[in-house]
Amino acid sequence: MQTNYKDTVSSEPGRGDGRGRGKELFPELRGCRALKERLLPMLSGSGGPSVSHAYTVEGGSESDRLGFAVGFAQALSCGNRDTDGFPLPCGKCRSCRNIAAGISPDVTVSGPEEGRSTLGVDAVRALRNDIRITPSESDFKVYILRSADSMTVQAQNAFLLTLEEPPSYAVILLLCRDSRALLETVRSRAPALRLDNPADAGADDIAAGARETADRFVELASDRTGGAEAMTVLMRGCASRDAAAAVMAEISLALRDLVAFRKCGPQKAAPLFYSDRERAADLSEKFTVNRLMGLSDLADKAKTSLARNMNTRLTLMKFLGDAKML
Ligand SMILES: [Zn+2]
Repeated sequence: MQTNYKDTVSSEPGRGDGRGRGKELFPELRGCRALKERLLPMLSGSGGPSVSHAYTVEGGSESDRLGFAVGFAQALSCGNRDTDGFPLPCGKCRSCRNIAAGISPDVTVSGPEEGRSTLGVDAVRALRNDIRITPSESDFKVYILRSADSMTVQAQNAFLLTLEEPPSYAVILLLCRDSRALLETVRSRAPALRLDNPADAGADDIAAGARETADRFVELASDRTGGAEAMTVLMRGCASRDAAAAVMAEISLALRDLVAFRKCGPQKAAPLFYSDRERAADLSEKFTVNRLMGLSDLADKAKTSLARNMNTRLTLMKFLGDAKML
């Protein structure tokens, strides 16, 4: 691969340059210390981010991987990269907010079509066509492929053509439950970024419960008279810190979808949380965009507080209290 970027783990760019200037990286990501230490110099180096063109992202739950990938995209383009006192990503600048809301033209999330278990060659061809168009707002164009390990062999072979000669601005994140399902030729071009698995053995149960809680909470929040019930649902679904963190991550995804539905319209929005487009579109109409953005902001703040080991109950009470004011 002839580019300015290096593409193997052993020669990862930015490694060991001793910088990072004390920035806090991925404030919403719990644990993952080794990964953060590895990525900090690459993402916050003074010459701008210096990263590989592709990575596999493994470990954690599906929403952990997605949240991390969105955070990675934000970190590449954050307007406060060089501002002291801000974490990376800051979550507040226009770029961070647009990416979180799913409306940045330079960040694309794709995955298997609804009702299909594999990622086919069509999705890869769409990526190959789009990747040629230079970024419009950022220096980078980020492609997040969900369930990348479900790519068919045909899709992977088509994908290899892109991986062999990616444009200098492209970064592709392959989210995988198990990257061993990918061809060796793909894996060798995409260094692995591994998230910590939650210590709790019941991680899958937590993830499923969190989805359900978030779904119900957002539905209740759409109706201003549903406040008390929304509080009950949230408190019941957040029995532990892990559960609360998972619920906040799912609420954040759900709200992101609803913002995208309001801003891009039901046809163009690419939902990450809702599988029923019609229902998501109806639900989004029950909120103003400002309220959705405000709630999304609060969910992100709560995620950060939980990641910083703040008291779970107090964090939830603050979230609910602030949400009521919106
Ligand atoms: Zn930012």
